[in-house]
Amino acid sequence: MIYADNAATTKMSAAAIQTMVSLMNENYGNPSSLYSLGQKAKETLEDARKTVAEAISADPREIYFTSGGSEADNQAILSAAALGRKNGKTHIVSSAFEHHAVLHTLEKLKSEGFDITLLDVHENGIVRPEEVEAAIRDDTCLVTIMYANNEIGTIQPIPEIGAICRRRGVLFHTDAVQAIGHIPVNTATDQIDMLSASAHKFHGPKGVGFLYARKGIRLTNLIEGGAQERGKRAGTENVPGIAAMATALKEAVANMADSAAAMKKQRDRLITGLKQIPHSALNGDEVRRLPGNVNFCFEGIEGESLLLLLDDKGIQASSGSACTSGSLDPSHVLLAIGRVHDVAHGSLRLSIGDDLTDEETDEIIRSVSEVVTYLRSFSPVWRDLVAGKTKFIL
Ligand SMILES: *Cc1c(COP(=O)(O)O)cnc(C)c1O
Repeated sequence: MIYADNAATTKMSAAAIQTMVSLMNENYGNPSSLYSLGQKAKETLEDARKTVAEAISADPREIYFTSGGSEADNQAILSAAALGRKNGKTHIVSSAFEHHAVLHTLEKLKSEGFDITLLDVHENGIVRPEEVEAAIRDDTCLVTIMYANNEIGTIQPIPEIGAICRRRGVLFHTDAVQAIGHIPVNTATDQIDMLSASAHKFHGPKGVGFLYARKGIRLTNLIEGGAQERGKRAGTENVPGIAAMATALKEAVANMADSAAAMKKQRDRLITGLKQIPHSALNGDEVRRLPGNVNFCFEGIEGESLLLLLDDKGIQASSGSACTSGSLDPSHVLLAIGRVHDVAHGSLRLSIGDDLTDEETDEIIRSVSEVVTYLRSFSPVWRDLVAGKTKFIL
């Protein structure tokens, strides 16, 4: 089996599993309890906070543990909106290809009277800083732009956007779920005010993540209750999950350069190989993309069928995000970079790990070529294209 869907979730690292199991067995106290078992859990929790903070050049007091990326996105955006509303500022700038955790939160705010500007991401899948600058108004309370896109892997000009927001006095949040542990992220030099991350995207456990909020930013609670997480996120802390996340993040940061180099090599081999398939195109900028992301459109086929046939050949991939699969709508990300509906339907995302071999890469290329040819052999859309009844786009 070749697992090429690391953007949907990753396999936990052995060290992260080890951390989790040993805590579950031995260090199971409640960090709020005053006796020694509780205090030991509290120490483990605060060590994890330090590790996470260090990984993004933040202060431990700026880290709030959450149930994952979606919760962190919701809390960051709703906090900025609450602050904005208090000051009469109800305009938010974002982009058209954000994750649904961001887009759906913005839709909710829109229904409550906020004005939302979604910036164009252009053909290459990259937001232009000058367009962020131009979109900022006197009543803008937040700019939220993702660090790297989860479908097409394009990396956004975050330091440039951060500098603009800082200069204009507007809060800047970034959904960095796909970036953390994969490419360097520095909240200080990137001038980020709030950032979301999720453990299961960097070989940690599912159901745990964190929100970074710069000192002085007043967060709004999504969950009321006890005084955990500086009173901003109630509920007994998921200590084994949080500690395992810290283990995974420390590992990911330590191995980042080697891991990225290994992935880039296979990524570029895949891109070169898949480009040989006629009427295909890479989605998103070829250079400014995550080391492990490959995303293609193949004209005249359905991505869903492609996925199922690849699964039969032992290859696990995706045709967009795990969140939209199952729905018949084409990916909002591919539409945002200007792919028309028919073309966007025939998409394939391969998000590889750092252990993919040359042989496996070649097997993926061979399998995708075979399946695309097979699907086209009985596709009415393809027949019309070949007959000249409709025009090829790719
Ligand atoms: C996976 C993902 C999320 C959601 O994270 P969860 O921990 O699954 O809630 C948010 N944003 C991006 C970019 C993602 O890839």
